[in-house]
Amino acid sequence: MDHIYLDHAATTPVDPAVVEAMLPVYREIFGNPSSIHYFGREARKLIEDAREVIAAEIGATPKEIIFTSGGTESDNAALIGAAHARQALGRHIITTKIEHHAVLHTCEHLEKEGFDVTYLDVDQKGRISLDAFKNALRPDTILVSIMYGNNEVGTLQPIKEIASLLKGTNALFHTDAVQAFGLEAINVRDIGVDLMSITAHKFNGPKGVGFLYIREGVLLETYQHGGEQERKRRAGTHNVPGIVGMAKAVKLVSENREEKKQMMYRLRQRMLDRLTEEGIDFAINGDLENGLAHILNLYFPGTRVEALLSALDLAGVAVSSGSACTAGSVEPSHVLTAMFGSDAPQAKSSLRISFGLYNTEEQVETAARIIAKTVSGWQKPKHSG
Ligand SMILES: *Cc1c(COP(=O)(O)O)cnc(C)c1O
Repeated sequence: MDHIYLDHAATTPVDPAVVEAMLPVYREIFGNPSSIHYFGREARKLIEDAREVIAAEIGATPKEIIFTSGGTESDNAALIGAAHARQALGRHIITTKIEHHAVLHTCEHLEKEGFDVTYLDVDQKGRISLDAFKNALRPDTILVSIMYGNNEVGTLQPIKEIASLLKGTNALFHTDAVQAFGLEAINVRDIGVDLMSITAHKFNGPKGVGFLYIREGVLLETYQHGGEQERKRRAGTHNVPGIVGMAKAVKLVSENREEKKQMMYRLRQRMLDRLTEEGIDFAINGDLENGLAHILNLYFPGTRVEALLSALDLAGVAVSSGSACTAGSVEPSHVLTAMFGSDAPQAKSSLRISFGLYNTEEQVETAARIIAKTVSGWQKPKHSG
């Protein structure tokens, strides 16, 4: 049986061109970029070239990029670093109820340290209200962290508008743009953020490597202590092959973004059309007009998501109930709960289907047929005899 992978919001396959770019680094350029001899200088050159590629892609300068181990570390470094650096100005933080756990659990940690966190509600499409945001802002607000695009339902947030509301305040603005980066062209000057988290494995790069954009002039308290790498902003020997692979993935993304996005829209529409033709009952969670092209979150009334996921896995379709970190546990999705309420059936009966570079229309057809057949087992039970 060919398994069909429709869980690209959890992770993506590495592009073969990225693997090609990384292999010589593993094989030959093994030096430590902090060493001053020839071997070190060779490795150093690779990471500085990568930094330039990445900075140019988001409209930043190379100095404004630090390399990390991925999205989780970038979120932690940004939030803890900003909160600690600014606490003399105030201890209030604003975020949303639908952030990735890398942000939510870090905020909960900061609450234990005495910070006061406001978790903004979202509407049924998963979007925050700018009025609620304005009301939450206080003179002691030192940090705002609002994700660019949600990883479970795909909804985009009004990042530019939030940034302009923060002009002239003491608050730094962080966005987790991990899920959006592959498909949305993001220029940090344009959107006006101070801090932005990205990870390579969500856009066909390797796992365990990411970066944090830190606007020039913004000081964070160091989060990881040790050597003097990254201008003393992130200690630890660089993941040189990973950084080279991430830069290659960034280049590929910037060359094909629009084409890739159109393809995601087509696959998503094909899935919706086929499920409609199959006559099963479903509703869309999220916002197709104002959402990420590769994510589709669907509510199938009458189903139980854990059983649905195992049945689909057995039938060869890999999808998810939302964030991969909570899959396996039966806890309802915090994102759907924030959108629909804690007792809402959506939180127990919804699937996230997320498309990627190597999916084909045929795969989507097959997957739609299998999903419809599985779901109809709940919705139209066959009468025996
Ligand atoms: C995947 C993801 C992360 C975590 O990134 P890792 O590199 O896996 O640590 C953070 N935020 C969002 C929105 C994500 O989708």
